[in-house]
Amino acid sequence: MRRAMASPLTVRSTPAELADRKQVIETKENIDSFPRLAAILGTELSAARTPLAKWRQFPVEITLRFGWAGGRREFVTVTGTVTARIAALCNRCLQPFVYPVREELKLLLVHTGDATGEEPGHETWELDEEFLRPADIVEEILIMALPLAPRHDDETICRPEATAAPAAERGNTIRPFADLKSQMQD
Ligand SMILES: [Zn+2]
Repeated sequence: MRRAMASPLTVRSTPAELADRKQVIETKENIDSFPRLAAILGTELSAARTPLAKWRQFPVEITLRFGWAGGRREFVTVTGTVTARIAALCNRCLQPFVYPVREELKLLLVHTGDATGEEPGHETWELDEEFLRPADIVEEILIMALPLAPRHDDETICRPEATAAPAAERGNTIRPFADLKSQMQD
């Protein structure tokens, strides 16, 4: 619905157009505004032992500023911040958890195949196409920030493997007295 209002985040422009008008984009979206990111997280979270509610509505706050590098009308820079709350699945205990992401952007946009531009302190960002949707940069930044093997920071939050594994094998049947019985036999 928000997309229908043609937010500057989703409008396609050339980087030069954005830099010429010193475009500033300040907006609050949610995870579902980024379909590729939402699909990756959805696949990951489908293996969760207990589902996590409303993670698609978690906020993504965005500030992007476009301009020309070094005052010359040659290479476009994008600076700003992307902050978000991201749902992940702990690879140790298969329970979902949420962690904050804050990415500082200092990008120099360069079209693939063009002369390579460099600007101190800026990361070169290659563009395949003439037109740019700023939302695509935000989505790519968030996808790149995803950890390969997310885990709870604190290992003690994770349930011990010894009790978790049999429960999964037995289709999550709870057998509260089984452990007690084996302890009594010891
Ligand atoms: Zn865990």
